[in-house]
Amino acid sequence: MIKENLEAVRADIENSAKKSGRNASDITLIAVSKTQPIEKLIEAYNDGAREFGENKVQEIVAKYPLMPCDAHFHMIGHLQKNKVKDVVDKAVLIHSVDSLELANVIQKESQKRNIVSKILIEVNIAREESKFGVFKEDVLTLAKEISKLSNVSLNGLMTVAPYVDNAEDNRQYFASMKQLAIDIENQNIDNVSMKILSMGMSADYTVAIEEGATHVRVGTKIFGARNYSK
Ligand SMILES: *Cc1c(COP(=O)(O)O)cnc(C)c1O
Repeated sequence: MIKENLEAVRADIENSAKKSGRNASDITLIAVSKTQPIEKLIEAYNDGAREFGENKVQEIVAKYPLMPCDAHFHMIGHLQKNKVKDVVDKAVLIHSVDSLELANVIQKESQKRNIVSKILIEVNIAREESKFGVFKEDVLTLAKEISKLSNVSLNGLMTVAPYVDNAEDNRQYFASMKQLAIDIENQNIDNVSMKILSMGMSADYTVAIEEGATHVRVGTKIFGARNYSK
């Protein structure tokens, strides 16, 4: 089942890339494996998945040692400052940085380990009360502050778009994220790149790709419905 699902998602990525004059190879599929047992991750790995997304530090800590070392974990959920130390050497990319305080803790823990942590700024593009992330107008200031941190590398932006019935309703938000990334790139800030745009989930990744997503985070469409009761 996972194999067929992955193939269907990959075909969608190919189509959306083509539609928007892009290369499918420029788009990274992150298999969002939160709540899924390790057997399912290994199954996806055997079907070619290498990038996995988790929203809880404890799940990354538990799954990390059980996966082959060319499997990568992306931290895509809200990150508490006191958990940074557990994840900083395990996540290939932290998508959910939404404050300078959090970036400072990532800096401190990365410096201790002599590593440079790749991060994205999470943007609350639709200004939803229920969502994490900084507002659009605050991203540039935060990017400039983060640029001063030597063990933190800002690689781009991430957003969790609104839950909608029609993916087209999120097109405006994805387009707005792309424009924000361009505007920040144009500032030519040292140590800041906007090459990654992490947006699009099971319900809307094709639209996100058409608007410039480089990383899509797809869970349900690969693994099926999540069981939160365990
Ligand atoms: C759960 C989650 C996803 C994947 O959601 P699906 O709708 O299952 O594809 C993507 N991004 C984040 C931040 C998530 O928490």
